[in-house]
Amino acid sequence: MEVLDYDIVILGSGLAGMRAALQAAIASNGKARIAVISKLHAMRSHSVSAEGGISGVLYPGEHGDSEDLHGYDTAKGGDFLGDQDAVELLVKHAPEEIKLFDHLGVPWNRDNNGKIVLRPFGGMSIPRTAFASDKTGFFMLSALYDNLLEFDNIKIFHEYLATGLVMEKGAFRAITALDMASGTMRAFVAKAGIIGTGGFARIYGFTTNAYSCTGDGAALAYNAGLPLKNMEFVQFHPTGLVPSGILITEASRGEGAYLINSKGERFMERYAKNKMELAPRDIVSRSIITEIEEGRGLTDPRFGDMNFVHLDLRHLGEEKIAERLPMVKEIALKMIGVDPAKEPLPVAPVAHFTMGGIHTDINGKVMLNDKKSTTGLWAVGECGCVSVHGANRLGSNSLSQCVIWGKMAGNAAVQLAKSGGATTELSHKTKKLIDSQEDKLNKLLDSNGSENPYDLRKALWRVMDVKVGAFRNLNSLKQARTELAKLKRLYGKIYVDDKSRVYNTNLRDTIEIGNMIDLACVVVAGAINRKESRGAHARRDYPKRDDKRWMKHTIAYKMASGGVKLSYIPVKITKWKPEERKY
Ligand SMILES: Cc1cc2nc3c(=O)[nH]c(=O)nc-3n(C[C@H](O)[C@H](O)[C@H](O)COP(=O)(O)OP(=O)(O)OC[C@H]3O[C@@H](n4cnc5c(N)ncnc54)[C@H](O)[C@@H]3O)c2cc1C
Repeated sequence: MEVLDYDIVILGSGLAGMRAALQAAIASNGKARIAVISKLHAMRSHSVSAEGGISGVLYPGEHGDSEDLHGYDTAKGGDFLGDQDAVELLVKHAPEEIKLFDHLGVPWNRDNNGKIVLRPFGGMSIPRTAFASDKTGFFMLSALYDNLLEFDNIKIFHEYLATGLVMEKGAFRAITALDMASGTMRAFVAKAGIIGTGGFARIYGFTTNAYSCTGDGAALAYNAGLPLKNMEFVQFHPTGLVPSGILITEASRGEGAYLINSKGERFMERYAKNKMELAPRDIVSRSIITEIEEGRGLTDPRFGDMNFVHLDLRHLGEEKIAERLPMVKEIALKMIGVDPAKEPLPVAPVAHFTMGGIHTDINGKVMLNDKKSTTGLWAVGECGCVSVHGANRLGSNSLSQCVIWGKMAGNAAVQLAKSGGATTELSHKTKKLIDSQEDKLNKLLDSNGSENPYDLRKALWRVMDVKVGAFRNLNSLKQARTELAKLKRLYGKIYVDDKSRVYNTNLRDTIEIGNMIDLACVVVAGAINRKESRGAHARRDYPKRDDKRWMKHTIAYKMASGGVKLSYIPVKITKWKPEERKY
Protein backbone atom coordinates (compact mmCIF):
# COMPACT_ATOMS: atom_id res chain seq x y z
CA MET A 1 0.00 0.00 0.00
CA GLU A 2 1.28 3.48 -0.81
CA VAL A 3 2.26 5.33 2.36
CA LEU A 4 1.89 9.13 2.52
CA ASP A 5 3.76 10.95 5.22
CA TYR A 6 2.33 14.09 6.92
CA ASP A 7 2.75 16.05 10.12
CA ILE A 8 -0.97 16.11 10.82
CA VAL A 9 -3.76 14.06 9.31
CA ILE A 10 -7.33 15.26 9.80
CA LEU A 11 -10.13 12.81 9.11
CA GLY A 12 -13.24 14.76 8.14
CA SER A 13 -13.83 18.09 6.46
CA GLY A 14 -16.91 19.28 8.32
CA LEU A 15 -16.83 22.39 10.47
CA ALA A 16 -14.76 20.66 13.15
CA GLY A 17 -12.20 19.12 10.80
CA MET A 18 -11.73 22.20 8.62
CA ARG A 19 -11.54 24.51 11.65
CA ALA A 20 -8.77 22.25 12.99
CA ALA A 21 -6.98 22.42 9.64
CA LEU A 22 -7.19 26.21 9.50
CA GLN A 23 -5.83 26.53 13.01
CA ALA A 24 -3.00 24.07 12.38
CA ALA A 25 -2.02 26.01 9.26
CA ILE A 26 -2.06 29.33 11.15
CA ALA A 27 -0.30 28.01 14.27
CA SER A 28 2.50 26.49 12.21
CA ASN A 29 2.91 29.61 10.04
CA GLY A 30 1.91 27.59 7.01
CA LYS A 31 4.66 25.05 7.68
CA ALA A 32 2.99 21.91 9.06
CA ARG A 33 2.20 19.41 6.31
CA ILE A 34 -1.51 18.76 6.74
CA ALA A 35 -3.72 16.17 5.05
CA VAL A 36 -7.50 16.46 5.26
CA ILE A 37 -9.32 13.28 4.26
CA SER A 38 -13.03 13.25 3.46
CA LYS A 39 -15.27 10.55 2.07
CA LEU A 40 -17.31 13.31 0.45
CA HIS A 41 -16.25 16.39 -1.42
CA ALA A 42 -15.32 18.70 1.48
CA MET A 43 -18.21 21.06 0.80
CA ARG A 44 -20.72 18.20 0.98
CA SER A 45 -19.85 17.48 4.61
CA HIS A 46 -23.00 17.42 6.66
CA SER A 47 -22.23 20.67 8.47
CA VAL A 48 -23.38 22.31 5.26
CA SER A 49 -26.96 21.54 6.22
CA ALA A 50 -26.87 23.29 9.62
CA GLU A 51 -29.61 25.83 9.47
CA GLY A 52 -30.56 27.75 12.57
CA GLY A 53 -27.32 29.22 13.91
CA ILE A 54 -24.46 29.21 16.38
CA SER A 55 -24.67 30.15 20.06
CA GLY A 56 -22.47 32.65 21.90
CA VAL A 57 -22.89 35.64 24.23
CA LEU A 58 -21.97 38.43 21.82
CA TYR A 59 -23.32 41.28 23.94
CA PRO A 60 -22.72 40.48 27.63
CA GLY A 61 -24.98 42.49 29.91
CA GLU A 62 -27.53 43.17 27.19
CA HIS A 63 -30.92 41.79 28.26
CA GLY A 64 -29.11 40.31 31.26
CA ASP A 65 -27.09 37.83 29.20
CA SER A 66 -23.75 36.47 30.41
CA GLU A 67 -21.40 33.55 29.92
CA ASP A 68 -22.61 32.26 33.25
CA LEU A 69 -26.22 32.20 32.03
CA HIS A 70 -25.23 30.46 28.79
CA GLY A 71 -23.37 27.90 30.90
CA TYR A 72 -26.31 27.38 33.23
CA ASP A 73 -28.71 26.92 30.29
CA THR A 74 -26.33 24.39 28.71
CA ALA A 75 -25.80 22.41 31.92
CA LYS A 76 -29.52 22.37 32.69
CA GLY A 77 -30.43 21.64 29.05
CA GLY A 78 -28.08 18.62 29.21
CA ASP A 79 -29.88 17.41 32.36
CA PHE A 80 -26.66 17.81 34.36
CA LEU A 81 -24.67 15.13 32.54
CA GLY A 82 -22.37 17.65 30.84
CA ASP A 83 -18.88 18.14 32.25
CA GLN A 84 -19.11 21.70 33.48
CA ASP A 85 -15.41 22.52 33.03
CA ALA A 86 -16.00 21.86 29.32
CA VAL A 87 -19.22 23.89 29.38
CA GLU A 88 -17.21 26.80 30.82
CA LEU A 89 -14.81 26.56 27.88
CA LEU A 90 -17.67 26.50 25.39
CA VAL A 91 -19.33 29.64 26.69
CA LYS A 92 -16.02 31.49 27.07
CA HIS A 93 -14.78 30.89 23.53
CA ALA A 94 -18.01 30.89 21.50
CA PRO A 95 -18.19 34.69 21.02
CA GLU A 96 -14.63 34.96 19.63
CA GLU A 97 -15.40 32.20 17.12
CA ILE A 98 -18.53 33.98 15.87
CA LYS A 99 -16.41 37.11 15.39
CA LEU A 100 -13.68 35.12 13.63
CA PHE A 101 -16.23 33.74 11.15
CA ASP A 102 -17.41 37.29 10.56
CA HIS A 103 -13.86 38.06 9.38
CA LEU A 104 -13.70 34.83 7.38
CA GLY A 105 -16.70 36.00 5.38
CA VAL A 106 -19.93 34.70 6.93
CA PRO A 107 -22.78 37.13 6.18
CA TRP A 108 -24.38 37.14 9.65
CA ASN A 109 -27.85 38.69 9.70
CA ARG A 110 -27.55 42.23 11.07
CA ASP A 111 -29.92 44.93 12.25
CA ASN A 112 -30.15 48.43 10.75
CA ASN A 113 -27.21 49.58 12.88
CA GLY A 114 -24.99 46.79 11.57
CA LYS A 115 -25.14 44.76 14.78
CA ILE A 116 -25.23 40.96 14.45
CA VAL A 117 -28.79 39.87 15.27
CA LEU A 118 -29.35 37.04 17.76
CA ARG A 119 -32.39 34.77 17.66
CA PRO A 120 -34.05 32.72 20.44
CA PHE A 121 -33.39 28.96 20.55
CA GLY A 122 -34.80 26.11 22.63
CA GLY A 123 -33.65 26.01 26.26
CA MET A 124 -31.72 29.29 25.97
CA SER A 125 -32.95 31.92 28.47
CA ILE A 126 -32.18 34.78 26.09
CA PRO A 127 -31.70 35.18 22.32
CA ARG A 128 -28.01 34.32 21.78
CA THR A 129 -27.90 32.45 18.47
CA ALA A 130 -26.14 34.19 15.57
CA PHE A 131 -27.33 33.13 12.12
CA ALA A 132 -27.01 33.63 8.39
CA SER A 133 -30.71 33.35 7.55
CA ASP A 134 -31.36 29.59 7.76
CA LYS A 135 -28.21 28.56 5.90
CA THR A 136 -25.68 29.07 8.69
CA GLY A 137 -23.79 25.81 8.13
CA PHE A 138 -23.41 26.44 4.42
CA PHE A 139 -21.94 29.91 4.96
CA MET A 140 -19.61 28.80 7.77
CA LEU A 141 -18.35 25.78 5.84
CA SER A 142 -17.77 27.67 2.62
CA ALA A 143 -15.96 30.46 4.50
CA LEU A 144 -13.62 27.85 5.98
CA TYR A 145 -13.14 26.03 2.69
CA ASP A 146 -12.33 29.25 0.81
CA ASN A 147 -9.78 30.21 3.44
CA LEU A 148 -8.15 26.77 3.55
CA LEU A 149 -7.52 26.90 -0.18
CA GLU A 150 -5.08 29.75 0.42
CA PHE A 151 -2.69 27.44 2.26
CA ASP A 152 -0.28 25.40 0.16
CA ASN A 153 0.58 23.23 3.14
CA ILE A 154 -2.96 21.77 3.33
CA LYS A 155 -3.94 19.04 0.92
CA ILE A 156 -7.57 17.94 0.86
CA PHE A 157 -8.20 14.36 -0.25
CA HIS A 158 -11.83 14.50 -1.40
CA GLU A 159 -13.73 11.21 -1.67
CA TYR A 160 -11.30 9.08 0.32
CA LEU A 161 -13.09 6.64 2.62
CA ALA A 162 -11.17 5.88 5.81
CA THR A 163 -11.23 2.17 6.60
CA GLY A 164 -8.82 1.83 9.52
CA LEU A 165 -7.29 3.67 12.46
CA VAL A 166 -3.86 2.36 13.32
CA MET A 167 -2.58 2.83 16.88
CA GLU A 168 0.53 1.44 18.52
CA LYS A 169 1.06 1.36 22.28
CA GLY A 170 -1.57 4.03 22.79
CA ALA A 171 -0.11 6.38 20.17
CA PHE A 172 -1.65 7.45 16.87
CA ARG A 173 0.19 6.06 13.83
CA ALA A 174 -1.95 6.15 10.71
CA ILE A 175 -5.27 6.19 8.95
CA THR A 176 -5.88 3.92 5.99
CA ALA A 177 -8.26 5.11 3.30
CA LEU A 178 -9.77 3.98 0.02
CA ASP A 179 -9.52 6.45 -2.85
CA MET A 180 -13.02 6.12 -4.28
CA ALA A 181 -12.01 7.44 -7.70
CA SER A 182 -9.29 4.87 -8.34
CA GLY A 183 -10.12 2.12 -5.88
CA THR A 184 -6.61 2.13 -4.42
CA MET A 185 -5.80 2.10 -0.73
CA ARG A 186 -3.41 4.59 0.86
CA ALA A 187 -2.00 4.90 4.36
CA PHE A 188 -1.74 8.40 5.83
CA VAL A 189 1.00 8.26 8.40
CA ALA A 190 1.36 11.32 10.63
CA LYS A 191 2.68 12.56 13.92
CA ALA A 192 -0.78 13.69 14.99
CA GLY A 193 -4.29 12.62 14.01
CA ILE A 194 -7.59 14.48 14.41
CA ILE A 195 -10.90 12.70 13.86
CA GLY A 196 -13.86 14.89 12.86
CA THR A 197 -16.20 12.43 11.17
CA GLY A 198 -19.52 13.75 12.50
CA GLY A 199 -22.46 12.00 14.15
CA PHE A 200 -24.22 8.70 13.57
CA ALA A 201 -27.96 9.44 13.66
CA ARG A 202 -28.20 7.55 10.34
CA ILE A 203 -28.48 4.39 12.40
CA TYR A 204 -32.15 5.44 12.36
CA GLY A 205 -34.39 5.34 9.27
CA PHE A 206 -36.40 8.42 10.17
CA THR A 207 -33.65 10.98 10.59
CA THR A 208 -32.57 14.46 9.59
CA ASN A 209 -29.10 13.10 8.81
CA ALA A 210 -27.72 12.44 5.35
CA TYR A 211 -26.91 8.89 4.25
CA SER A 212 -23.26 9.72 4.95
CA CYS A 213 -23.74 10.24 8.72
CA THR A 214 -22.79 6.69 9.61
CA GLY A 215 -20.41 7.40 12.49
CA ASP A 216 -17.37 5.88 10.77
CA GLY A 217 -14.82 7.64 12.98
CA ALA A 218 -16.48 6.44 16.18
CA ALA A 219 -16.64 2.91 14.77
CA LEU A 220 -12.97 3.03 13.70
CA ALA A 221 -11.97 4.14 17.20
CA TYR A 222 -14.16 1.50 18.86
CA ASN A 223 -12.74 -1.24 16.66
CA ALA A 224 -9.22 -0.03 17.43
CA GLY A 225 -9.95 -0.66 21.12
CA LEU A 226 -10.67 2.95 22.12
CA PRO A 227 -13.59 3.86 24.37
CA LEU A 228 -16.87 5.53 23.38
CA LYS A 229 -18.85 7.70 25.80
CA ASN A 230 -22.57 8.30 26.52
CA MET A 231 -23.70 6.54 23.36
CA GLU A 232 -27.26 5.93 24.61
CA PHE A 233 -28.03 9.66 24.32
CA VAL A 234 -29.49 10.27 20.87
CA GLN A 235 -31.35 13.51 20.30
CA PHE A 236 -34.77 13.48 18.64
CA HIS A 237 -35.55 16.82 17.06
CA PRO A 238 -39.22 17.79 17.44
CA THR A 239 -39.80 18.97 13.90
CA GLY A 240 -38.87 16.54 11.16
CA LEU A 241 -40.97 17.18 8.08
CA VAL A 242 -43.36 14.29 7.46
CA PRO A 243 -42.89 11.95 5.65
CA SER A 244 -39.17 12.38 4.77
CA GLY A 245 -37.74 13.51 8.15
CA ILE A 246 -35.93 16.46 6.60
CA LEU A 247 -35.28 19.04 9.28
CA ILE A 248 -37.51 22.05 9.75
CA THR A 249 -35.14 24.16 11.81
CA GLU A 250 -35.82 25.09 15.43
CA ALA A 251 -35.24 28.64 14.21
CA SER A 252 -38.86 28.46 12.95
CA ARG A 253 -40.01 28.26 16.56
CA GLY A 254 -37.30 30.76 17.50
CA GLU A 255 -38.92 33.18 15.06
CA GLY A 256 -42.34 32.45 16.62
CA ALA A 257 -43.91 29.37 14.95
CA TYR A 258 -46.45 27.39 17.02
CA LEU A 259 -46.95 23.67 17.56
CA ILE A 260 -50.63 22.76 17.22
CA ASN A 261 -52.52 19.46 17.78
CA SER A 262 -55.65 18.15 16.05
CA LYS A 263 -57.83 20.18 18.44
CA GLY A 264 -56.12 23.38 17.41
CA GLU A 265 -54.40 23.73 20.81
CA ARG A 266 -50.88 25.07 21.44
CA PHE A 267 -50.29 21.95 23.47
CA MET A 268 -46.84 22.91 24.82
CA GLU A 269 -48.77 24.83 27.47
CA ARG A 270 -49.40 21.45 29.14
CA TYR A 271 -45.73 20.46 29.26
CA ALA A 272 -43.56 23.61 29.55
CA LYS A 273 -45.78 26.60 30.11
CA ASN A 274 -42.94 29.11 30.52
CA LYS A 275 -40.88 28.15 27.48
CA MET A 276 -43.70 26.70 25.36
CA GLU A 277 -42.34 25.72 21.90
CA LEU A 278 -38.85 26.80 22.98
CA ALA A 279 -38.38 24.20 25.69
CA PRO A 280 -35.37 21.92 25.05
CA ARG A 281 -35.73 19.36 22.27
CA ASP A 282 -36.07 16.25 24.41
CA ILE A 283 -39.06 17.76 26.22
CA VAL A 284 -40.78 19.07 23.07
CA SER A 285 -40.27 15.75 21.25
CA ARG A 286 -41.77 13.73 24.07
CA SER A 287 -44.67 16.18 24.30
CA ILE A 288 -45.46 15.68 20.60
CA ILE A 289 -45.31 11.89 20.97
CA THR A 290 -47.61 12.08 24.00
CA GLU A 291 -50.12 14.21 22.07
CA ILE A 292 -50.09 11.67 19.23
CA GLU A 293 -50.36 8.67 21.60
CA GLU A 294 -53.30 10.29 23.39
CA GLY A 295 -55.17 10.72 20.10
CA ARG A 296 -54.52 14.40 19.40
CA GLY A 297 -52.27 13.87 16.39
CA LEU A 298 -53.19 14.30 12.74
CA THR A 299 -52.88 12.27 9.55
CA ASP A 300 -53.23 13.30 5.93
CA PRO A 301 -53.04 10.92 2.96
CA ARG A 302 -50.98 13.54 1.09
CA PHE A 303 -48.14 12.84 3.55
CA GLY A 304 -48.37 9.05 3.87
CA ASP A 305 -49.69 7.24 6.91
CA MET A 306 -47.59 8.79 9.68
CA ASN A 307 -49.12 10.63 12.61
CA PHE A 308 -47.94 14.20 13.10
CA VAL A 309 -48.69 17.56 14.67
CA HIS A 310 -48.73 20.92 12.94
CA LEU A 311 -45.98 23.51 12.91
CA ASP A 312 -47.75 26.74 12.13
CA LEU A 313 -45.72 29.59 10.63
CA ARG A 314 -48.59 31.39 8.91
CA HIS A 315 -48.77 34.27 11.39
CA LEU A 316 -45.09 35.13 10.72
CA GLY A 317 -46.06 36.35 7.26
CA GLU A 318 -44.43 36.00 3.84
CA GLU A 319 -41.86 38.74 4.42
CA LYS A 320 -40.38 37.36 7.65
CA ILE A 321 -40.32 33.84 6.27
CA ALA A 322 -38.48 35.09 3.17
CA GLU A 323 -35.93 37.04 5.23
CA ARG A 324 -35.29 34.65 8.13
CA LEU A 325 -36.45 31.21 6.98
CA PRO A 326 -36.11 30.98 3.19
CA MET A 327 -34.86 27.39 3.29
CA VAL A 328 -37.88 26.24 5.34
CA LYS A 329 -40.11 27.57 2.59
CA GLU A 330 -37.97 25.99 -0.13
CA ILE A 331 -37.90 22.59 1.61
CA ALA A 332 -41.64 22.55 2.34
CA LEU A 333 -42.56 23.53 -1.21
CA LYS A 334 -40.16 21.09 -2.83
CA MET A 335 -40.78 18.11 -0.57
CA ILE A 336 -44.54 18.26 0.05
CA GLY A 337 -45.85 21.14 -2.06
CA VAL A 338 -46.91 23.19 0.98
CA ASP A 339 -46.24 26.91 1.35
CA PRO A 340 -45.64 27.52 5.10
CA ALA A 341 -47.01 31.04 4.77
CA LYS A 342 -50.37 29.54 3.74
CA GLU A 343 -50.65 26.11 5.40
CA PRO A 344 -49.20 24.53 8.58
CA LEU A 345 -46.47 21.91 8.13
CA PRO A 346 -46.80 18.25 9.20
CA VAL A 347 -43.97 17.46 11.66
CA ALA A 348 -42.91 14.64 13.98
CA PRO A 349 -39.89 13.90 16.21
CA VAL A 350 -36.92 12.64 14.23
CA ALA A 351 -33.44 11.25 15.09
CA HIS A 352 -31.10 14.20 14.72
CA PHE A 353 -27.93 14.42 16.79
CA THR A 354 -25.71 12.10 18.79
CA MET A 355 -24.54 13.44 22.14
CA GLY A 356 -22.27 10.40 22.57
CA GLY A 357 -19.10 9.66 20.68
CA ILE A 358 -15.40 9.00 21.06
CA HIS A 359 -14.40 9.46 24.71
CA THR A 360 -12.11 12.51 25.00
CA ASP A 361 -10.69 14.64 27.77
CA ILE A 362 -11.55 18.33 28.12
CA ASN A 363 -9.08 19.22 25.33
CA GLY A 364 -10.62 16.83 22.82
CA LYS A 365 -7.74 14.37 23.27
CA VAL A 366 -8.95 10.81 22.74
CA MET A 367 -8.82 8.67 25.88
CA LEU A 368 -7.12 5.30 25.89
CA ASN A 369 -9.11 4.05 28.85
CA ASP A 370 -11.06 5.47 31.81
CA LYS A 371 -8.00 7.35 33.09
CA LYS A 372 -5.27 7.77 30.50
CA SER A 373 -5.31 9.60 27.18
CA THR A 374 -3.79 8.49 23.87
CA THR A 375 -0.74 10.15 22.40
CA GLY A 376 -1.35 12.23 19.30
CA LEU A 377 -5.05 11.62 18.69
CA TRP A 378 -7.97 14.06 19.04
CA ALA A 379 -11.68 13.72 18.26
CA VAL A 380 -13.63 16.92 17.58
CA GLY A 381 -17.12 17.95 16.54
CA GLU A 382 -20.07 15.60 16.74
CA CYS A 383 -17.94 12.42 16.64
CA GLY A 384 -16.22 13.31 19.92
CA CYS A 385 -17.78 13.34 23.36
CA VAL A 386 -16.10 15.98 25.52
CA SER A 387 -18.94 15.97 27.04
CA VAL A 388 -20.37 19.42 26.77
CA HIS A 389 -23.95 18.62 25.75
CA GLY A 390 -24.56 16.07 28.49
CA ALA A 391 -27.77 14.14 28.03
CA ASN A 392 -29.38 16.61 25.63
CA ARG A 393 -27.76 19.24 23.41
CA LEU A 394 -29.28 22.70 23.19
CA GLY A 395 -29.83 23.79 19.60
CA SER A 396 -27.01 26.00 18.20
CA ASN A 397 -24.45 24.75 20.76
CA SER A 398 -23.08 22.17 18.34
CA LEU A 399 -21.60 24.59 15.83
CA SER A 400 -19.84 26.40 18.69
CA GLN A 401 -18.51 23.09 19.99
CA CYS A 402 -17.26 22.05 16.52
CA VAL A 403 -15.21 25.20 15.94
CA ILE A 404 -13.92 25.67 19.50
CA TRP A 405 -12.61 22.13 19.88
CA GLY A 406 -11.50 22.07 16.23
CA LYS A 407 -9.31 25.07 16.98
CA MET A 408 -7.99 23.53 20.19
CA ALA A 409 -7.05 20.28 18.47
CA GLY A 410 -5.41 22.15 15.57
CA ASN A 411 -3.19 24.04 18.03
CA ALA A 412 -2.33 20.96 20.08
CA ALA A 413 -1.53 18.87 17.00
CA VAL A 414 0.95 21.51 15.81
CA GLN A 415 2.63 21.54 19.23
CA LEU A 416 3.01 17.77 19.13
CA ALA A 417 4.19 17.71 15.50
CA LYS A 418 6.88 20.28 16.37
CA SER A 419 8.07 18.38 19.44
CA GLY A 420 11.18 16.23 19.17
CA GLY A 421 9.39 13.09 20.35
CA ALA A 422 6.82 12.89 17.56
CA THR A 423 7.79 10.62 14.69
CA THR A 424 6.26 9.06 11.61
CA GLU A 425 8.70 6.15 11.57
CA LEU A 426 6.80 2.89 11.51
CA SER A 427 7.59 -0.27 13.39
CA HIS A 428 7.34 -3.63 11.69
CA LYS A 429 4.17 -4.31 13.69
CA THR A 430 2.52 -1.07 12.52
CA LYS A 431 3.41 -1.78 8.90
CA LYS A 432 1.74 -5.16 9.27
CA LEU A 433 -1.33 -3.55 10.82
CA ILE A 434 -1.56 -1.13 7.91
CA ASP A 435 -1.28 -3.92 5.36
CA SER A 436 -3.90 -5.94 7.16
CA GLN A 437 -6.38 -3.15 6.39
CA GLU A 438 -5.90 -3.72 2.69
CA ASP A 439 -6.35 -7.47 3.13
CA LYS A 440 -9.56 -6.82 5.04
CA LEU A 441 -10.91 -4.61 2.27
CA ASN A 442 -10.00 -7.11 -0.45
CA LYS A 443 -11.71 -9.86 1.50
CA LEU A 444 -14.87 -7.77 1.78
CA LEU A 445 -14.79 -6.96 -1.93
CA ASP A 446 -14.44 -10.66 -2.76
CA SER A 447 -17.16 -11.70 -0.33
CA ASN A 448 -19.86 -13.90 -1.81
CA GLY A 449 -22.08 -14.59 1.18
CA SER A 450 -25.85 -14.82 1.27
CA GLU A 451 -26.71 -11.46 2.83
CA ASN A 452 -27.56 -8.27 0.97
CA PRO A 453 -26.15 -5.29 2.94
CA TYR A 454 -29.12 -3.08 2.07
CA ASP A 455 -31.53 -5.60 3.61
CA LEU A 456 -29.48 -5.43 6.79
CA ARG A 457 -29.60 -1.63 6.73
CA LYS A 458 -33.39 -1.68 6.36
CA ALA A 459 -33.63 -4.11 9.27
CA LEU A 460 -31.30 -1.90 11.36
CA TRP A 461 -33.46 1.16 10.70
CA ARG A 462 -36.62 -0.75 11.64
CA VAL A 463 -35.14 -1.92 14.94
CA MET A 464 -33.82 1.51 15.90
CA ASP A 465 -36.95 3.45 14.81
CA VAL A 466 -39.38 1.14 16.56
CA LYS A 467 -37.47 -0.09 19.62
CA VAL A 468 -34.88 2.55 20.50
CA GLY A 469 -36.88 5.76 20.04
CA ALA A 470 -37.43 8.84 22.17
CA PHE A 471 -39.22 6.67 24.77
CA ARG A 472 -37.63 3.34 25.71
CA ASN A 473 -38.31 0.41 28.03
CA LEU A 474 -36.44 -2.71 29.02
CA ASN A 475 -38.54 -5.05 26.88
CA SER A 476 -38.13 -3.17 23.63
CA LEU A 477 -34.43 -2.55 24.31
CA LYS A 478 -33.80 -6.23 24.96
CA GLN A 479 -35.60 -7.13 21.75
CA ALA A 480 -33.43 -4.57 19.94
CA ARG A 481 -30.31 -6.13 21.45
CA THR A 482 -31.32 -9.61 20.19
CA GLU A 483 -32.17 -8.33 16.71
CA LEU A 484 -28.93 -6.36 16.45
CA ALA A 485 -26.91 -9.40 17.51
CA LYS A 486 -28.58 -11.28 14.68
CA LEU A 487 -27.77 -8.50 12.22
CA LYS A 488 -24.16 -8.61 13.35
CA ARG A 489 -24.03 -12.35 12.68
CA LEU A 490 -25.64 -11.89 9.26
CA TYR A 491 -23.13 -9.13 8.46
CA GLY A 492 -20.48 -11.86 8.66
CA LYS A 493 -22.17 -13.50 5.64
CA ILE A 494 -22.50 -10.36 3.56
CA TYR A 495 -21.89 -10.11 -0.18
CA VAL A 496 -20.66 -7.13 -2.19
CA ASP A 497 -22.34 -7.36 -5.55
CA ASP A 498 -20.18 -4.84 -7.40
CA LYS A 499 -16.67 -6.24 -7.76
CA SER A 500 -15.20 -3.25 -9.57
CA ARG A 501 -12.66 -0.85 -8.06
CA VAL A 502 -13.63 2.55 -9.43
CA TYR A 503 -16.29 4.45 -7.40
CA ASN A 504 -17.55 1.30 -5.81
CA THR A 505 -20.38 2.77 -3.76
CA ASN A 506 -21.67 -0.73 -3.01
CA LEU A 507 -18.40 -1.48 -1.19
CA ARG A 508 -18.54 1.89 0.61
CA ASP A 509 -22.13 1.31 1.72
CA THR A 510 -21.25 -2.16 2.99
CA ILE A 511 -18.44 -0.76 5.14
CA GLU A 512 -20.71 1.99 6.49
CA ILE A 513 -23.48 -0.50 7.30
CA GLY A 514 -21.02 -2.57 9.34
CA ASN A 515 -20.02 0.55 11.25
CA MET A 516 -23.64 1.46 11.95
CA ILE A 517 -24.49 -2.00 13.29
CA ASP A 518 -21.50 -1.81 15.66
CA LEU A 519 -22.53 1.60 16.97
CA ALA A 520 -26.21 0.64 17.33
CA CYS A 521 -25.14 -2.29 19.57
CA VAL A 522 -23.31 0.18 21.83
CA VAL A 523 -26.29 2.57 21.96
CA VAL A 524 -28.58 -0.24 23.03
CA ALA A 525 -26.14 -1.70 25.58
CA GLY A 526 -25.82 1.72 27.26
CA ALA A 527 -29.59 2.29 27.13
CA ILE A 528 -30.38 -1.07 28.73
CA ASN A 529 -27.97 -0.45 31.58
CA ARG A 530 -28.97 3.13 32.37
CA LYS A 531 -31.93 2.66 34.68
CA GLU A 532 -33.18 6.23 34.84
CA SER A 533 -34.57 8.93 32.55
CA ARG A 534 -32.21 11.80 31.80
CA GLY A 535 -32.35 14.20 28.88
CA ALA A 536 -32.81 12.33 25.62
CA HIS A 537 -32.78 8.92 27.32
CA ALA A 538 -36.37 8.46 28.55
CA ARG A 539 -37.12 5.06 30.08
CA ARG A 540 -40.83 4.41 30.64
CA ASP A 541 -39.91 1.84 33.27
CA TYR A 542 -37.62 4.33 35.09
CA PRO A 543 -39.31 7.70 34.48
CA LYS A 544 -37.23 9.74 36.97
CA ARG A 545 -33.70 11.10 36.90
CA ASP A 546 -31.58 9.34 39.51
CA ASP A 547 -28.57 11.50 40.38
CA LYS A 548 -27.49 9.26 43.21
CA ARG A 549 -26.90 6.24 41.00
CA TRP A 550 -26.67 7.62 37.47
CA MET A 551 -25.06 11.02 37.40
CA LYS A 552 -22.13 9.44 35.58
CA HIS A 553 -20.83 8.98 32.05
CA THR A 554 -21.16 5.63 30.31
CA ILE A 555 -17.90 4.37 28.83
CA ALA A 556 -18.07 1.51 26.30
CA TYR A 557 -15.30 -0.78 25.03
CA LYS A 558 -15.37 -3.52 22.46
CA MET A 559 -14.60 -6.87 24.04
CA ALA A 560 -12.49 -9.50 22.29
CA SER A 561 -15.69 -11.56 21.90
CA GLY A 562 -17.24 -8.65 19.96
CA GLY A 563 -19.59 -7.77 22.83
CA VAL A 564 -19.84 -4.40 24.60
CA LYS A 565 -18.18 -3.79 27.97
CA LEU A 566 -19.49 -0.85 30.01
CA SER A 567 -17.91 1.15 32.80
CA TYR A 568 -18.70 4.53 34.33
CA ILE A 569 -16.83 7.71 35.27
CA PRO A 570 -18.07 10.69 37.30
CA VAL A 571 -19.48 13.91 35.85
CA LYS A 572 -17.55 17.12 36.59
CA ILE A 573 -19.74 19.64 38.37
CA THR A 574 -18.15 23.06 38.84
CA LYS A 575 -20.58 25.97 38.97
CA TRP A 576 -24.12 24.82 38.37
CA LYS A 577 -25.70 22.56 41.00
CA PRO A 578 -28.02 19.87 39.61
CA GLU A 579 -31.66 20.84 40.04
CA GLU A 580 -35.01 19.64 38.80
CA ARG A 581 -35.42 20.55 35.18
CA LYS A 582 -38.56 22.71 34.85
CA TYR A 583 -39.35 25.05 31.98
C1 LIG B 1 -30.12 19.22 9.27
C2 LIG B 1 -29.26 19.65 10.42
C3 LIG B 1 -29.26 20.97 10.85
C4 LIG B 1 -28.45 21.36 11.92
N1 LIG B 1 -28.47 22.66 12.33
C5 LIG B 1 -27.66 23.05 13.35
C6 LIG B 1 -27.61 24.40 13.77
O1 LIG B 1 -28.28 25.28 13.22
N2 LIG B 1 -26.82 24.72 14.82
C7 LIG B 1 -26.06 23.79 15.47
O2 LIG B 1 -25.34 24.13 16.41
N3 LIG B 1 -26.07 22.50 15.06
C8 LIG B 1 -26.84 22.11 14.02
N4 LIG B 1 -26.84 20.80 13.62
C9 LIG B 1 -25.81 19.90 14.15
C10 LIG B 1 -24.48 20.26 13.48
O3 LIG B 1 -24.72 20.66 12.17
C11 LIG B 1 -23.51 19.09 13.46
O4 LIG B 1 -23.39 18.56 14.75
C12 LIG B 1 -22.14 19.53 12.98
O5 LIG B 1 -22.24 20.26 11.78
C13 LIG B 1 -21.23 18.35 12.80
O6 LIG B 1 -20.03 18.79 12.23
P1 LIG B 1 -18.77 17.86 12.18
O7 LIG B 1 -17.66 18.66 11.64
O8 LIG B 1 -18.58 17.18 13.48
O9 LIG B 1 -19.18 16.70 11.15
P2 LIG B 1 -19.73 16.75 9.64
O10 LIG B 1 -20.01 18.09 9.16
O11 LIG B 1 -20.82 15.72 9.59
O12 LIG B 1 -18.50 16.23 8.82
C14 LIG B 1 -18.05 14.90 8.90
C15 LIG B 1 -16.89 14.76 7.95
O13 LIG B 1 -16.29 13.48 8.12
C16 LIG B 1 -16.08 12.87 6.86
N5 LIG B 1 -16.12 11.43 7.06
C17 LIG B 1 -17.00 10.69 7.76
N6 LIG B 1 -16.67 9.39 7.69
C18 LIG B 1 -15.55 9.30 6.95
C19 LIG B 1 -14.73 8.25 6.48
N7 LIG B 1 -14.99 6.96 6.79
N8 LIG B 1 -13.67 8.53 5.71
C20 LIG B 1 -13.39 9.81 5.36
N9 LIG B 1 -14.12 10.87 5.76
C21 LIG B 1 -15.20 10.60 6.54
C22 LIG B 1 -17.21 13.40 6.00
O14 LIG B 1 -16.89 13.30 4.64
C23 LIG B 1 -17.26 14.85 6.48
O15 LIG B 1 -16.28 15.59 5.82
C24 LIG B 1 -27.65 20.39 12.57
C25 LIG B 1 -27.65 19.07 12.15
C26 LIG B 1 -28.46 18.69 11.09
C27 LIG B 1 -28.47 17.25 10.68
